[in-house]
Amino acid sequence: MQQNTTRKKIWLFLCLSAAILLAGNFVFHQKTHLSIFLVFILVNTAIFLILLKFYSAKIIREESDCEHTQEEINIIESKNKKDHEYNAALKARIIRYDNLKKLIEDLNHSLKLDIVIRVLSSTVYTLISDSSGIALFYLVDNRYQKLSLVHSIKDDPALVVLSKEGDIFDQWVLRHSTQLIIENLKNDFRFDSDSLNGQDIRAAQSLISAPLISNNSLLGLLRLESTKNNFFNQDDLRFLSLVADLGAVALENSLLFQKTQDLAIHDDLTSLYTRGYFLERLKDEVRRCQRLDQHLSLMMIDIDFFKQYNDKFGHIVGDLVLKKMGQLLKDTLSELNPLLCRFGGEEFLIMFSGVEKKRALSIAEELRKKIESEKIMLRRQDTHITVSIGVASLPLDTKDEDELVQKADKAMYAAKGKGRNQVCSI
Ligand code: GH3
Ligand code: MG
Ligand code: MG
Repeated sequence: MQQNTTRKKIWLFLCLSAAILLAGNFVFHQKTHLSIFLVFILVNTAIFLILLKFYSAKIIREESDCEHTQEEINIIESKNKKDHEYNAALKARIIRYDNLKKLIEDLNHSLKLDIVIRVLSSTVYTLISDSSGIALFYLVDNRYQKLSLVHSIKDDPALVVLSKEGDIFDQWVLRHSTQLIIENLKNDFRFDSDSLNGQDIRAAQSLISAPLISNNSLLGLLRLESTKNNFFNQDDLRFLSLVADLGAVALENSLLFQKTQDLAIHDDLTSLYTRGYFLERLKDEVRRCQRLDQHLSLMMIDIDFFKQYNDKFGHIVGDLVLKKMGQLLKDTLSELNPLLCRFGGEEFLIMFSGVEKKRALSIAEELRKKIESEKIMLRRQDTHITVSIGVASLPLDTKDEDELVQKADKAMYAAKGKGRNQVCSI
């Protein structure tokens, strides 16, 4: 290409010079002797050839310089591009590591499990995924080595994550307790692409995933997905792992805190809520129902002649009956989503939000019958317990939460007074 241009230029120069010489010679030929004219032509041709050689060499030299300069420009441009990319990566890295300080502050701010999970997920979603694709947070149930999806962030709200217990990639991270990067989900030698067909792979093409490990125990898993191939690089994986390492300590603290809190608000024997926690929740719920003009009903339940039962079968058996009673209340009323509490020894208090008195009385009657019919096998003999239930409702009986509890208690004593094993309200 370059040589062609050179040749063209030389030919152009040749033609022009020849034309000028011919014109000159023609003019000269008219006026002078033939021999002088021939000498003149020779001299002219020699000059022409010298000029031709000089200019050709010059043109070739210039073009070679030009080529050389172009090469240098290309090298500088490619170096500039690389420098630019490196600077951009460095900038992104600085932003990420600057945000680590904020992340640590945020994690230190709260011991609440859901806040810790949200902070970790949103940090990696914005800093690594640039708020695109999906971020998933799984907690590990170490008893069964099972994952459970507890939080997700998606750029497409219509997208549903079906694999609540994780897919083959999450299982891989769980098994190997190490980070994972997949540049192309359908073309990774570690995973059988056929087995992916049945998996909930959404539209994801690439992913990174890191385990949250504290004290050698795998607590959770943080995963980012993209719909683009090769979206994540090793730098992204390193940063995700760093966040996961920082998060693991915070997660462990919040799990311990939650466990302590759970123990404080749950009764040891029945695992129903404690009286203190129940009354706190009742206060809030009464206020909420009053604001929304809704009904709220309470049931006070007391086991009949439980002292006799204890005396006959022993205190340990009595404990088992209380435990069974707690489970029976949970199972029977689960659809109504009530708040269940062991109020005292063999007394239970139940709150039903949005349930009016008439319906509460009918639920109580069903419950009483169910408890009465329940067999409790002791020393190869069937035993039964019965309960007396008092019902009080808001706003029909009172507008005050303390009075509501008192009225339910009074109603329960009224049921006792009427011979036990019945439902009363006042
Ligand atoms: P009533 O029909 O009038 O309610 O008779 P009751 O015997 O159930 O009533 P009382 O208040 O006289 O006795 C309650 C009994 O509940 C006393 C105690 O032996 C038993 N109790 C209370 N808490 C527990 C507990 O945690 N475990 C066991 N096994 N028994 C308990
Ligand atoms: Mg009692
Ligand atoms: Mg009793």
